[in-house]
Amino acid sequence: MIYADVIIDISLEKLDKTFQYLIPKELEDVIGLGTQVVIPFGNGSRRIKGYVVDISEEPKIDPACIKPLCGVAKDSLAIESQLISLAGWMKRNYGSTMNQALKTVIPIKKKESVKEKKVVSLVLSEEQAKVEFTNLVARKGHSVAKERLLAALMENRKIPWEDITGRLHVSTAIIREFEKNNWVSISAYRDYRNPINIDQGEKKDITLNEEQQQVVNQVFAHWQQDLQKTYLLYGVTGSGKTQVYMELIAGCIERGRSAIVLIPEIALTYQTVMRFYGRFGNKVSIINSRMTPGERFDQFERAKNGDIQIMVGPRSALFTPFSNLGIIIIDEEHETSYKSETVPKYHARETAIARAAMNHATVVLGSATPSVESFARAKSGEYELLTLTKRVEEKPLPACEIVDLRQELRKGNRSILSERLVELMEDRLAKGEQTMLFINRRGLMGFISCRACGHVIKCPHCDVSLSLHRGSKMQCHYCGYETEQPKVCPECGSKYIGGFKAGTQKFEEVVKARFPQARVLRMDMDTTKGKNGHQQILEAFSNEEADILIGTQMIVKGHDFPKVTLVGVLAADMSLNSSDFHSAERTFQLLTQAAGRAGRGSEPGQVVIQTYQPEHYSIVAASQQDYEKFFNQEILYRKIMGYPPAAHMLVIQVNGADENRAQMQAERIAEVIQRADSSVICMGPSDATIARINDVYKKILYLKDKDYQRLVKMKDAVEAYILEEKELKDISVWFDFDPMSGF
Ligand code: ADP
Ligand code: ZN
Ligand code: ZN
Repeated sequence: MIYADVIIDISLEKLDKTFQYLIPKELEDVIGLGTQVVIPFGNGSRRIKGYVVDISEEPKIDPACIKPLCGVAKDSLAIESQLISLAGWMKRNYGSTMNQALKTVIPIKKKESVKEKKVVSLVLSEEQAKVEFTNLVARKGHSVAKERLLAALMENRKIPWEDITGRLHVSTAIIREFEKNNWVSISAYRDYRNPINIDQGEKKDITLNEEQQQVVNQVFAHWQQDLQKTYLLYGVTGSGKTQVYMELIAGCIERGRSAIVLIPEIALTYQTVMRFYGRFGNKVSIINSRMTPGERFDQFERAKNGDIQIMVGPRSALFTPFSNLGIIIIDEEHETSYKSETVPKYHARETAIARAAMNHATVVLGSATPSVESFARAKSGEYELLTLTKRVEEKPLPACEIVDLRQELRKGNRSILSERLVELMEDRLAKGEQTMLFINRRGLMGFISCRACGHVIKCPHCDVSLSLHRGSKMQCHYCGYETEQPKVCPECGSKYIGGFKAGTQKFEEVVKARFPQARVLRMDMDTTKGKNGHQQILEAFSNEEADILIGTQMIVKGHDFPKVTLVGVLAADMSLNSSDFHSAERTFQLLTQAAGRAGRGSEPGQVVIQTYQPEHYSIVAASQQDYEKFFNQEILYRKIMGYPPAAHMLVIQVNGADENRAQMQAERIAEVIQRADSSVICMGPSDATIARINDVYKKILYLKDKDYQRLVKMKDAVEAYILEEKELKDISVWFDFDPMSGF
């Protein structure tokens, strides 16, 4: 007797355990780990679906009580057994039901229709064909179509079915008749939807420079010793990281193994894909969110069958079912999009490392502005640091100036455009060069600052900005500390203190009013709604259909505009004052990327950073393009405050339609944690940044500890509580380990 442990396909914590079923004899060969099956469930033996997560010969209860399962679910996809282990790892480390974790590792939910193509091949020998052809022509009232087909087949012995019915205008009946006569045979082959609609990308012959070669050699040397590590490739923009990735992938494929390349969706442009395609041709495929489910399904099938060796895509490409995975590359590893926003809230970096460990594979994290977490790990030796210090084409970095907006106010300029920026913009307009104006909109959630002295109201306990809350109160989202909004600045007494709010549209009006002769384009959530809205604006700007491009962080990524010689950052403080401990890191990254947009062409670039806090280390370091200077300051702050990577954090979000009950349950959960381990720091409950969405109230508990596994234990304790507590029916609880943004 063989039994299957089945996880039921319902996301209910209470059913988040396995149930044992008997595998009927006739199904023993078709049911394996990961097969989706239909089972009789509960007293009424309702038929529901589930996944097989274990198979054994040991009954866990009286064999007489074990029901046989009904069969394999129709149109189901099997989850590779290794991905099941990975799902188990994700469930344990990030908190979710097993079912939710399994759903995450199979991003494609059901089998899509299989497309097939038929091909018609001549069976007759050349001699026989000639004879039959002569007979055909001689026959009275003969069919011209038959003649045409036979003649075509004599020229090309194999012709695709569609060509015959299309180009040759020959009916299906005639093909079938040929088949009956044993003149031709018809075979079918699987036609995969291929998202890359080109025959061959352009191939560039590039010899690695010394630094690049050194990096590649180092990794290859480790492979020679059968060492598989996690590397952090830290290289300034334009230092040739992508070239290094491709060299490593080539080496990996030579060793008979496959590669996954993760790229943030926003940077997954045509140019990027073409570079990989140019080098590796049909060995590569991509997935992205714009593809149809059918297209995505086929790419995963091709990977499973070994038709492709390289998958390029965003976060979910991590779950490509390669059986012989050799390397996972994560480009722009600092990007927040690598963290999932839905349960399980996994991070692609850690999950990639876990998957690589199962395959004895290598992980390469690449960035010009590595996350503080990764750089700290590289410094401690947990990752191996690889560096590229030089730009390939030796282009100088753009000159950066910081403009103090407090000075502007003192001079009587209340506009968001400083005098210096206006002067430089006029110069560019006169010269016919382009300007990009970048509005840092991240963290727009109402912080309070003084426009006269730059002072920002912060939490005395957490050192993050307080957010405006319920009218005139300000609150800390970490600890719940609350205070009245001041009428005058506590630092300088100025009355110019208040919320800082401005959108791209407002800025566009200001710019147009100041430069009526300029052609202005705006790129933000509103103007990029259409399928290719994003691409269209970038192309228009690239074709020099505008002088000035205004936009949010969308405009600072990817894309080279050789005519851009001026980049203005309108208010660098916006991201600096978000109520999140990452705010300095995000500011540094955004400013560095924005600055990197200037001077890509032949003319040198210039950058103007406008800010109320010109002396802040993240702004100073970004203006000098000095990552290590930034890191050394930032890591001190993290250590003093006990933020990651100095410690780990677990955010528990309690959601409920009834505010009092949500609050009460959040308090109970805090007690559960206190009882489980009183040495773990647990703060809150406080309200989430957006305290209520769709009439659901969100209460936040926030835990800190040096030991990640201790936080996992706290999560387990809360999960156990949820399982027992009847009153939690209308309340949901989410876990977020080491969050990447505010909450
Ligand atoms: P990064 O990914 O670090 O920003 P890229 O790999 O995109 O850098 O390289 C920047 C540019 O330099 C690309 O156009 C690339 O083709 C080119 N490049 C990279 N390595 C070399 C090399 N060794 N010799 C010449 N050109 C190179
Ligand atoms: Zn002030
Ligand atoms: Zn606080």
